[in-house]
Amino acid sequence: MATARRDYYEVLGLGRGATQDEVKSAYRKLAKEHHPDRNPDNRAEAEEKFKELSEAYEVLADVNKRRMYDSYGLEGVSRQFGPGGFDFRRDFTHGEDISDILGDLLQGFGMGSGSGLFDLLSGGRPQSRRHARGGDIRISVRLDLEEIAASVTKELSFSRFERCPECAGAGGKGKETCPACHGRGQVQHRTSSFLGQFVQVQSCPDCGGAGERVKETCKACTGAGRVRKPRTLKVRIPAGVSAGTYLPLHGEGHYGPGGSGDVLVQFEEREHPLYLRQGDDIAVEVPVTIATAVLGGKVKVPTLAGEKDVEVQAGTPSGTVLRIRGAGIKHLDGGAGDELVRVVIHVPRRLSRDEKALLKQLDEARTEEMPGPRKPG
Ligand SMILES: [Zn+2]
Ligand SMILES: [Zn+2]
Repeated sequence: MATARRDYYEVLGLGRGATQDEVKSAYRKLAKEHHPDRNPDNRAEAEEKFKELSEAYEVLADVNKRRMYDSYGLEGVSRQFGPGGFDFRRDFTHGEDISDILGDLLQGFGMGSGSGLFDLLSGGRPQSRRHARGGDIRISVRLDLEEIAASVTKELSFSRFERCPECAGAGGKGKETCPACHGRGQVQHRTSSFLGQFVQVQSCPDCGGAGERVKETCKACTGAGRVRKPRTLKVRIPAGVSAGTYLPLHGEGHYGPGGSGDVLVQFEEREHPLYLRQGDDIAVEVPVTIATAVLGGKVKVPTLAGEKDVEVQAGTPSGTVLRIRGAGIKHLDGGAGDELVRVVIHVPRRLSRDEKALLKQLDEARTEEMPGPRKPG
């Protein structure tokens, strides 16, 4: 029964340098084409082809598996699959990429489309609606660097589902046994296909898996058990957060019979007009006069906590970076970053006659020898 194995790239009609997007679109195109329902005349062949395509895709769609395959060929990936080689039901992990195609395919086998697919592939039993947890709510908050550096309290307004106060989440009054599932809460579908025998256990769509339903539907929530309500929260945002991090507020999300979801506060950082952020350090550039750089003196430096006088040593070269310890952003776990002050000498362009004369005089009176050309760095 063993047949000669074809190269995965060849199976998908791709070159070795194909991008991940090309791998995906090649598979989608071919999987559609070799959909067994579209090939009623040579169904067995289409099924074989479909399996071959799926195996190739399983490997090439995953960067790590693909690397193994590129280096070691079939030997390199054979252990990725269970005994007996690639098995679609067990080893195919990209259902979400092609659920539309597969849904269609399974519908061809009387499976119903879409949502049931993942239960099929995972062999899992769908969670009953009765115990479902409420959804999370994502809220994005834009912060200034000043707000990130200190700690800030923000007021967040959003709307969320809450338990219906009229029926206390029950969806109505009175109970009766669900006629669709006779109280079992589940319905079964049994089908066989070239992918194997499927027994699909589904939550009863009529009662949501509860096995019973309300006699008299609640008018306030039309039976949903929850209603949308506005909500305002004051949230203290800790210092030191950055874009990409988020703060979870447990139980502040949508209501669900199995518990409320969370609010996930995500942060965005507004670009600062003055500072560049480097982790918990901030950097700023401060121009100084030639005289200050040569003779030393104080310069005014902006910090997140207000203006500060900073001492510039006599003989400070342009580009010198001074460090103000602790003036950066607070670490999430204590301590703080620094402020890096790059001192640059400002070269004046519009000079008065007097200024020019003085500079010329200065140049002529110079005692230190000018250094010669040198290698940078
Ligand atoms: Zn209600
Ligand atoms: Zn039912």
